[in-house]
Amino acid sequence: MEKYIKILKSNGLKITPKRKEIINFFIEKDRYATVEEVWNNLKLKFKKIGLPTVYRNLEKFSEIGILTEIRTRDNKAYYGLCNAENPKSHHHHIICVKCHKVRCIDFCNFNEITEKIEKESGFKILNHFLQIKGICSDCLQLNEKNKSFI
Ligand SMILES: [Zn+2]
Ligand SMILES: [Zn+2]
Ligand SMILES: [Zn+2]
Repeated sequence: MEKYIKILKSNGLKITPKRKEIINFFIEKDRYATVEEVWNNLKLKFKKIGLPTVYRNLEKFSEIGILTEIRTRDNKAYYGLCNAENPKSHHHHIICVKCHKVRCIDFCNFNEITEKIEKESGFKILNHFLQIKGICSDCLQLNEKNKSFI
């Protein structure tokens, strides 16, 4: 939590109980979630909280890197907590398709293939978006125990 508070402060955002609760939600759940899920959770503590407020905060948090937007097949907007020391550093996220946890991958070797892609496509590459899907070690172990296939 301390780390996120520091990031909020360094981006000139006020530390409010609602903002703290949003971060808390993601720390406790340890998985990605929709705006509605976060909202429903906040409504338990804050009677007067509108969906737009939650939405605005999640957007702001993604802007400063505390949250990362997760794309899934159902096309809903999901957010996951970024636990990188410096969330603004260039890195990617890996998500578990079973328990929906999100982890940072702190390296990227995309630059190694940039030149090849540029040569083949004739494009000048400006940036890239990469999200890795997988099954985390916890879920792999559970699977092993239950002998069920994914
Ligand atoms: Zn991250
Ligand atoms: Zn998992
Ligand atoms: Zn990259």
